[in-house]
Amino acid sequence: MTTLLTNARRLDADGEVDGSWVLLDGATIAAVGTGEPPAADEAFDLEGAWLTPGFVDLHAHGGGGHAYDDGPDSIRAALAVHRAHGTTRSVISLVAAPLDALETSLDGIADVVADDPTVLGAHLEGPFLAASRCGAHDPAYLRDPAVDDVRRLLDAARGTLRLVTIAPELPGALKAIQLLRAAGVTVAVGHTEADQERAMDAFDAGARVLTHAFNAMPGLHHRNPGPLGAAISDHLVTLELVLDGHHVHPAMAGLLFAAAPGRIALVTDAMAAAGVGDGAYRLGALDVVVRDGRATLGPDGPLAGSTLTQDAALRFAIGMDLTPIEAITALTATPARALGLHDRLGRIQPGFAADVVVLDRDWTVRHVWADGRRVS
Ligand SMILES: [Zn+2]
Repeated sequence: MTTLLTNARRLDADGEVDGSWVLLDGATIAAVGTGEPPAADEAFDLEGAWLTPGFVDLHAHGGGGHAYDDGPDSIRAALAVHRAHGTTRSVISLVAAPLDALETSLDGIADVVADDPTVLGAHLEGPFLAASRCGAHDPAYLRDPAVDDVRRLLDAARGTLRLVTIAPELPGALKAIQLLRAAGVTVAVGHTEADQERAMDAFDAGARVLTHAFNAMPGLHHRNPGPLGAAISDHLVTLELVLDGHHVHPAMAGLLFAAAPGRIALVTDAMAAAGVGDGAYRLGALDVVVRDGRATLGPDGPLAGSTLTQDAALRFAIGMDLTPIEAITALTATPARALGLHDRLGRIQPGFAADVVVLDRDWTVRHVWADGRRVS
């Protein structure tokens, strides 16, 4: 089955090309060009709309009223909501929980991965976090990253553990980072009190991501650069950013884009309220209140994830005067590279996954193809 998309304003990390066509063949992009398009089983005239790669979300906890912690049915329901907003590949984030509960969740995610190629695997955001920077993770479930516990979680995930966040100051953290790296897992630094030196040690040991930059860590101080200074100065590190106007001031977000060009990944960190609206929700075992799109633990507590979808993050980035190429790179090629998937995801090129998003000129999602199937 081939699908031809014509008259597109193609936009990806490599640039912007008007009057483009793209040929999808099953789950793969078969050809891309301008001028006379090839024949196909079906064809859509995009009438000059944007055509971008599908968005890759490294960090989310749910959406559409469903939390990823609640098992495969909830995961599938939440994914459908994010897909309609352009997210064609997702990492499933879990909050801190007892070890046996995490094992059950990882086992369920492995089942979802087995029949849904758009799910890239699991992210353990907890439990290896600093209690003083726990944010919306229940401090009762935090623990040090002991080798035996890391092995238990790796086994439960059956090869689908994709990302683990660790506070590098915890006892055993550097050993755990090496163990996870050896198992093919990407390691993130986050929910941490680490200073610059300790964070650099973690990156030297193989950590490659900073979990939601600025949030749940010391700030960027001129005499104490902290984990942000370490991440900015290491060109191998990708910095997650929750760009919703609540998590990080737009001026600091702009500073980060300027300081680490091509290394900012726009993540949602979305919880169940994403795509729904204000109200009362759960994040793991904790109660979350959402008011005016802002999710907090109780009415005045710390931020508890976001209600973002990635198309909203894109519009926010465009509104900050980033170029369309910079903004789309942060949603596609950069997160794909952070997971080592840069040869298959995040660009509109032959051989890449048939993940594309059609957006109106005002950056509203019109249609989405994920893994070659039209999902919206
Ligand atoms: Zn977090």
